[in-house]
Amino acid sequence: MRLTAARLAAGSAVALPVAAALGHALNAPATAIAIVATLALVTVLARLRHLESRMPATALSPSAAADAARHALRTRRLAGQLRALRNAAAALPDALVLLDREGRVRWFNDAAVRLLGLRRPQDRRIMLSARLAGSAIADWLAGSDTEPLDDVPAPADAALHLSLSLLPIGRDQQLLIARDISNLNRLEQVRRDFVANVSHELRTPLTVIHGYLELLDPEDTPELEPIIGEMRLQSRRMAQIVEDLLTLSRLETRPRLVEEHVAMRALLATLRKEAEALSHGRHTIEIEAEDAVDLLGSLKELHSAFSNLVSNAVRYTPTGGRIGIRWRRTPEGLEFAVTDTGYGIPASHQARLTERFYRVSSSRSRETGGTGLGLSIVKHVLNLHQARLTIASEPGRGSTFAALFGSERALDPGARDA
Ligand code: ADP
Repeated sequence: MRLTAARLAAGSAVALPVAAALGHALNAPATAIAIVATLALVTVLARLRHLESRMPATALSPSAAADAARHALRTRRLAGQLRALRNAAAALPDALVLLDREGRVRWFNDAAVRLLGLRRPQDRRIMLSARLAGSAIADWLAGSDTEPLDDVPAPADAALHLSLSLLPIGRDQQLLIARDISNLNRLEQVRRDFVANVSHELRTPLTVIHGYLELLDPEDTPELEPIIGEMRLQSRRMAQIVEDLLTLSRLETRPRLVEEHVAMRALLATLRKEAEALSHGRHTIEIEAEDAVDLLGSLKELHSAFSNLVSNAVRYTPTGGRIGIRWRRTPEGLEFAVTDTGYGIPASHQARLTERFYRVSSSRSRETGGTGLGLSIVKHVLNLHQARLTIASEPGRGSTFAALFGSERALDPGARDA
């Protein structure tokens, strides 16, 4: 019996840190507690059953009776712990559903009733995907995708939004965790509205200031010339930041884009002109394009994204460098890429470049007229085209920023003229 109790302790000792580590990996303390509770529950239950099965049914000797009394005490303590764990799991705001290997429900907490609409006791042992049939969650459960499912309506209340993940527990079980993210979504909306409103409110006064600054003639007051020049530069910079913030707000609130036939030959010619105007002859600019393919998407937004990449290549490449703009089919789809022989970007910065206002060097970005928002705009535009951005860069050698589109967006240039 002592051996069994030790095994119980050992089982919990293994289960708890594993669960805590999983929770930590998810960066979610509530989830950590939940998984701890669930795993410990399962372990403790199994051990209690094991202990019970070993209880002698016949009359006991005095030493066996003492053992039995100790065992009863331990069992009571464990039952107390079990109750506490069950209460903790029940009180969690996240829905937890323990599933067996086939996806049948083994256990769920109260939040699963509220958020997923599970019912007690009918839904024990039922296939969860069948129970939630018709919802995005059921499709996700039925598929082989192990990525979390983000922002879906709650089956029990469409006004609530959930984010779900599935964790394997041992070989035979999985834990479904569903978190209510409705409040986060609301806060995100408040943030978006705030940024959009502030940008909008700043636009008019800035236009007025900028207009008057342009009217001032430095020749009338030569001593003020450097000041007027600096004020013009800064007001242009502010106006550009406001315009970029408004572009981002527009992209964020727009679920779908106008899909049109984008003639790539004409767009590439425009990009070349823009690059040459920005470079003032300081760089060699080359275009390498496959004429036989156009793109399905929004011309305005794609132009904005591509010209951000081209303008970055010009701004972050010293005089004498080369800039290549490439458009081609690849085995995976279509690729628009801008390559430069510029400063390059250290690997430690690359993952964060598409965050708003993230710059490798603020002074270099400002000197070259950057707002810190260009790559954020690129990422949003590409997301709206179900495309992705890849970055390959080496400090001192240069960078390649590539936008990768699915081949379903390929269009025949002839189809437009027909
Ligand atoms: P910015 O307006 O500052 O250029 P972006 O969002 O366009 O803002 O780019 C973010 C940062 O990424 C830049 O500040 C710069 O440090 C870096 N970056 C972008 N493109 C390049 C490039 N082609 N070569 C080197 N660094 C780049």
